[in-house]
Amino acid sequence: MLIALVGIGKIAVDQHVPAIAGSADWELAATVSRHGTVDGVEAFTDFGKMLDARPDIRVVSLCLPPVPRYDYAAQAIRAGRHVMLEKPPGATLSECHALLDLARAHRVSLYATWHSRQADKVPAAKAWLADKTLRKLTVTWKEDVRHWHPGQDWVFDPGGLGIFDPGINALSIVTEILPDPIHLTEAQLHFPANRDTPIAATCRFHHPDGAEVSAELDWLEPGTPVWNIEAVTDEGTLLLENGGGKMTVDGQVQDAMPGLAGEYPRLYAQMADLVAQGGIDMDLAPMRHVADAFTLGQRVVAPAFEW
Ligand code: NAP
Repeated sequence: MLIALVGIGKIAVDQHVPAIAGSADWELAATVSRHGTVDGVEAFTDFGKMLDARPDIRVVSLCLPPVPRYDYAAQAIRAGRHVMLEKPPGATLSECHALLDLARAHRVSLYATWHSRQADKVPAAKAWLADKTLRKLTVTWKEDVRHWHPGQDWVFDPGGLGIFDPGINALSIVTEILPDPIHLTEAQLHFPANRDTPIAATCRFHHPDGAEVSAELDWLEPGTPVWNIEAVTDEGTLLLENGGGKMTVDGQVQDAMPGLAGEYPRLYAQMADLVAQGGIDMDLAPMRHVADAFTLGQRVVAPAFEW
């Protein structure tokens, strides 16, 4: 199937282009980006012109930051194209619902991707937790923003989510592996004095069985990142490390691997299935928790941040 990639920046180059190139389902037929291009692929700078010029391309994958993405997604859906969205699926929940309604009205597929849900050990963690009683779940998500998002000012602009840009990855895993729904009850958001989004956050969640569920997120962690989720249960402790890439239970490594390797190859395989079935996959649970943190969170002023 022909696909167009929109917003040729960090994640498009690092992950989307190789995943498409390695897939038998997809052929990268066009790019749309004001500056970025991909060697050997027809390049547009104007999205509307691409949609008009290439009616043969039925699927577009949007790799833009969340704030500009909505207009592109709505335009694509109105033009009858199937749409794949990078995470988070929008800058606001209302935008996401609007896209969902639009996709239904135009009978196209819409996929809100959560790449961290495709990490190797997420299915095994979900299966292990399914019949356990949770006592405590702790997310520790700490990395160096200067290393992972060098110079990307949009993460500190309104709608850029700040520390919740990586933090929503953790929440996408938590909402996938926990058998019970949780909801946010408390958050402290640390906003640099000169920025519009938090650089660190602590969140607490209500769990129906009274388990303690919390998340510690920090964007000023020097060196090796920590992307861990620990779940203490009545039958042992599960530790997901490396963003879901490694799993241990009571210290024993669980090394069974799902079939297809890699988060983004799995996302593109799922998009191919979704388009074939005419389906929509728009799970907004991770985004809901982040929105709740912004509505309920206490503002703490942190030192100004410069790159
Ligand atoms: P990025 O490199 O800063 O931006 C991607 C591209 O979007 C830019 O190169 C730019 O291309 C285009 N763009 C930026 N602002 C725009 C605007 N206002 N209007 C139109 N186009 C604009 O961002 P990224 O790191 O790839 O992240 C993009 C999305 O992927 C985000 O939602 C992020 O959360 C997600 N993601 C990122 C990573 C990561 O490691 N960086 C990992 C997983 C997911 P042109 O200037 O050429 O138009």
